[in-house]
Amino acid sequence: MKYMVLPFGCQMNRSDTGRIRTILNSMGFEESEFEDDPDLAIKGIIACSIRQKAVDRVYGKIRNWNASKGKILTFLSGCFLPADGEKFEELFDLVFPIDMVSSLPEMIRAKTGDMSNAVLSDKPSGKSASGDLMTKERLENFWELRPVYSSKAEAFIPIQNGCNKFCTFCAVPYTRGREVSRLSTGILDELRSLIGKNYRSITLLGQNVNSYGLDKGDLELNFVELMKSIGKIGRETGKNFWTYFTSPHPRDMSGELLEVIAEYDVLAKQIHLPLQSGDDEVLYRMNRNYSLADYRRMVYAIRHTLPEATLFTDIIVGFCGETETQFERTLEAMKEFRFDMAYIAKYSPRPGATSERWRDDIRREVKERRFTEASEVLRETASRKNRKLLAKKQRVLLCGEDERKDYSFGYTEGRIPVRLSLNTDTAKSPGKDIGNRTKVGEFAMVQIISTGSLSVEGRVL
Ligand code: SF4
Repeated sequence: MKYMVLPFGCQMNRSDTGRIRTILNSMGFEESEFEDDPDLAIKGIIACSIRQKAVDRVYGKIRNWNASKGKILTFLSGCFLPADGEKFEELFDLVFPIDMVSSLPEMIRAKTGDMSNAVLSDKPSGKSASGDLMTKERLENFWELRPVYSSKAEAFIPIQNGCNKFCTFCAVPYTRGREVSRLSTGILDELRSLIGKNYRSITLLGQNVNSYGLDKGDLELNFVELMKSIGKIGRETGKNFWTYFTSPHPRDMSGELLEVIAEYDVLAKQIHLPLQSGDDEVLYRMNRNYSLADYRRMVYAIRHTLPEATLFTDIIVGFCGETETQFERTLEAMKEFRFDMAYIAKYSPRPGATSERWRDDIRREVKERRFTEASEVLRETASRKNRKLLAKKQRVLLCGEDERKDYSFGYTEGRIPVRLSLNTDTAKSPGKDIGNRTKVGEFAMVQIISTGSLSVEGRVL
């Protein structure tokens, strides 16, 4: 009998899905990628609530599934608001907080044995997968499950859940609850096991990753100490790998962290520092708790301590009340900071977030235009930076087949995507051997032969 799980939204949901696979595999189920597989016995969704569209997608899926459901058991977990959870309980057989995954076998057995009510007795009545229900103890048990990783090249390690920052456009503190840090012993054990299996790219995951450990005070490492421990493991084992982290908050970035990243080879020289807006008044209304000047100081520190590091960011255009002048300041900031990559979003109210109660007063066409203008600035700055890579040799992690036919893809330590032509590299088998010398999941030395705005092209040496 088979199962399939659809993770929606962010990398955290994908990482959580790996732990659900572990549980279902241990029950003797086999994973299928196909929704219409006739052997499917279980279908699940790991939900995302970042936008109403994402919530609507869950409703669309379950209504479709229910229309032709037969004996299939459906479940829902992940990120959603208590109000949505109550509605989902009417549509799914099981709805549970992600940290209750270890009880999934009992829930399934109870449900399949007696479809009436046994399962729901496992779940606090009338509540759904809200962050408030994620107890520290249950989260720790959940994190200790060894996930089934979906890639042989890269893996994601959750180090923290929830957020205490309360940005007005974000619902995470309400869907995932307040910050809870995972024990560093568990994080470092998972990391050791991954590098023992030769994983080359490891990303530490959390909603507000660089405030790691603060909820535990002196009883736990802080984020700088955690990164230092990883750096030391790299040195002791002599293993080659890159460690990334996402997403940090500019307020919790420190010069000390940058110095630790500079000190150890296994800490990747790539920083993702969400700016969101280049205007102080908009930042204030977003409750970001930093000014443009604070952000600028941090960028100077990054450039000074990590001159080779690439800089990524997140930008929201068309936030409630954003004037043309305020938007211009965002464009100016993007030009000044010369980002290598920016994830640009047109503002839309997120269910449960504070700003949902405010007037979404920037017209759709204006948001579209601002999005296009911001994207053009990104293309210009990123193209200029990528051009500097031309003819240079870069260490690239080979990841697999590219969307473009006859190309493979990988990325540099700075996470600049690199396309590799299989024809010029005399590769025999796309996605497996590249140039017969290196394999997916391995590093290769690559010469950059052409550059674009968001990626470059290279040849394996
Ligand atoms: S820092 Fe802000 S945007 Fe990030 S998860 Fe917390 S509340 Fe949301």
